[in-house]
Amino acid sequence: MDLGIKGRRALVCASSKGLGLGCARALADAGVDLVMNARGAEALEASAQSVRDEFGISVTPVAADITDEAGRAEVLKAAGQIDILVTNAGGPPPGMWTDWGREDFLAALDANMLTPIALMTALVPGMTDRGWGRVVNITSQSVKAPIAILGLSNSARAGLTGYVAGMSRQVAGKGVAINNLLPGSHATDRRFALDRTIAERQGIPLDAATAQVQAEIPAGRYGTVEEFGAACAFLCSQHAGFIVGQNVLLDGGNVNATI
Ligand code: NAP
Repeated sequence: MDLGIKGRRALVCASSKGLGLGCARALADAGVDLVMNARGAEALEASAQSVRDEFGISVTPVAADITDEAGRAEVLKAAGQIDILVTNAGGPPPGMWTDWGREDFLAALDANMLTPIALMTALVPGMTDRGWGRVVNITSQSVKAPIAILGLSNSARAGLTGYVAGMSRQVAGKGVAINNLLPGSHATDRRFALDRTIAERQGIPLDAATAQVQAEIPAGRYGTVEEFGAACAFLCSQHAGFIVGQNVLLDGGNVNATI
């Protein structure tokens, strides 16, 4: 399918690996020029070069912390005019509800709620002026069903979801479609770090912890970054203009709910 976005320009945050890189690669495959971001310059440069080489589009890498105001300003300055925004950042650390105080919540809110809001506030006005835009916020299945060890994620991402529900409907009439993509368990470093936590807590090997998590997913496996990227690129496509303010779950059936 031709996604109809060749020649558009996208900012994909937190994209040197994992889900962000999956989105960047799928957009590049559709002919979209990219601004890619992560904190670590070396891995970012390597990913940017491999995307350039494989898809022949232009890639501007910006090494900066997207959750930090100065880092974000640097990314936005280099990005310039953006048609497609994919917000993403590292997830909050795991723990139990008794572990977290005010500072932990403020850090989670900054990274996973206020950062995407700041990016939309900076870039959506240009999209509405030009009459076309797409935003995909990478959130989590924790928005639909809480994950016990990820209370900080449950909280901060729910706040972003509420904001997007209202805000997306205010810009839809100007050709801008904003949606959230909710990953369930995907085979990335972040997922395997969570599996390591489970393994340590239960005193079992890492592969046993992974098998335990996968056994609870109806699809019986983790999702791939390619599957995730393809869904993201579709939500950014010309065909997705009537999809507004939705929370699209990619979880292999893990959230046991009728709707
Ligand atoms: P990942 O494989 O660990 O990759 C994270 C990427 O984000 C890396 O490129 C990392 O590079 C970059 N990054 C992290 N913090 C950043 C920051 N402050 N500023 C700029 N770049 C940053 O993680 P992932 O699995 O793709 O997860 C992405 C998001 O989806 C996370 O918020 C995670 O909680 C959420 N999620 C993931 C899953 C899953 O199963 N994978 C499920 C639900 C939700 P640097 O470290 O060099 O900055």
